[in-house]
Amino acid sequence: MHEMSIAESIVEIAEEAARREGAFRVRTVFAEIGELAGVEIEALRFCWEAVTREGPAAGAGLDITRIPGQAWCLHCSETIALCSSFAPCPRCGGDQLAITGGTEMRVREIEVE
Ligand SMILES: [Zn+2]
Repeated sequence: MHEMSIAESIVEIAEEAARREGAFRVRTVFAEIGELAGVEIEALRFCWEAVTREGPAAGAGLDITRIPGQAWCLHCSETIALCSSFAPCPRCGGDQLAITGGTEMRVREIEVE
């Protein structure tokens, strides 16, 4: 399950930030995850619970902002909204799509105390 390694790396980033700022613990991590990043949010939340049982990030919250998926359809010559990397164009049903947004995954902010 790759959500576990994602959760682990988010915790590492957060604990590192807490150390750097001389904070006692991590309160909340704000992350941005694109709809097309291939991350199961439910699974990630489950893994997050598991990796925040102890240490400076014990009990830390995970606030996830989803970035909508977007692609450029060659057939429509337009940017269309896409909810899955494997979905066809919702407008013309074509599959000549170049994904332009929604694949990002990043930690935006870390709240420590
Ligand atoms: Zn199209």
